[in-house]
Amino acid sequence: MQINKHVHAIKVPFYIVNPPRTIIERSVYVYLIYGTNGVFLIDTGVASAETAIFDYIRKTERRVEDISMIIQTHSHPDHIGATRTIKGETACAVAMHPAEKHWLENVQLQAEERPIPGFDSLVSGPVAVNRLLEDGEVFDLGCGLKLKIFHTPGHSKGSISILLLGYMALFSGDAIPVPNEMPVYEDVKASVASIKKLMAVSDIRHLLPAWDEPAKGGEVYKRLDAGLNYLQKIHEIVLSLTKKDPEPDPMELCRQAFTELGLPIETANPIAAKSFMAHLKLRNKKSII
Ligand SMILES: [Zn+2]
Repeated sequence: MQINKHVHAIKVPFYIVNPPRTIIERSVYVYLIYGTNGVFLIDTGVASAETAIFDYIRKTERRVEDISMIIQTHSHPDHIGATRTIKGETACAVAMHPAEKHWLENVQLQAEERPIPGFDSLVSGPVAVNRLLEDGEVFDLGCGLKLKIFHTPGHSKGSISILLLGYMALFSGDAIPVPNEMPVYEDVKASVASIKKLMAVSDIRHLLPAWDEPAKGGEVYKRLDAGLNYLQKIHEIVLSLTKKDPEPDPMELCRQAFTELGLPIETANPIAAKSFMAHLKLRNKKSII
């Protein structure tokens, strides 16, 4: 799907097997920036997503060899899955924020520190990072296109959002929570600050998240606002559920919070449990936004 003159989007479906046998269906967007000097990928989806990415590039009359760089919004499995394969086929460079470099270069370490069922089937392997991207940096793609980098932690320590200047298209990775979806973040305060940081950017024309559908025009700031309000809603649910028990069992809290949020209880999992537990650090605050 073409977003504007230079940006294209590919939706990659995948699933996670949540023990004992629940299948969580997910999808993730990979974005492509077509420059005159190359194709720049924003994330790569899960392992084997290269087939869809390569097919799309060929269909749009570019060459797979044109891929000159992969820019990672962060290092989670559904964003780095095909990076090793694509780098292997094209010898492209890989760029990301320094805070998660070690998780891409040593994926087994990530699997140990942030276990996800089926991690190995989602990720094609470790990859050396060639270029580090820092907050506030303007990164020149060398073809008249420039990217501004925003460090937007909360979902993960090294999450970045990337603004294509001129076209004002914002690639936000997983930085913005999606209402009525499973929450995934490790630091609530940082998440709130990151969303506010993006809200302060004026004239964003396209919001291009990984987890949610692309949005444009007036819908962009509504989405940012909805993400913020969802954090507040979850905060209130967690505070109410833990009123009598300030040190709850994480999975039990997760199941109760899923029920309150109307999410299928059988999809409760340790990653979401961690997100709910993260609210307890701010338990003395009624409003977090
Ligand atoms: Zn993520």
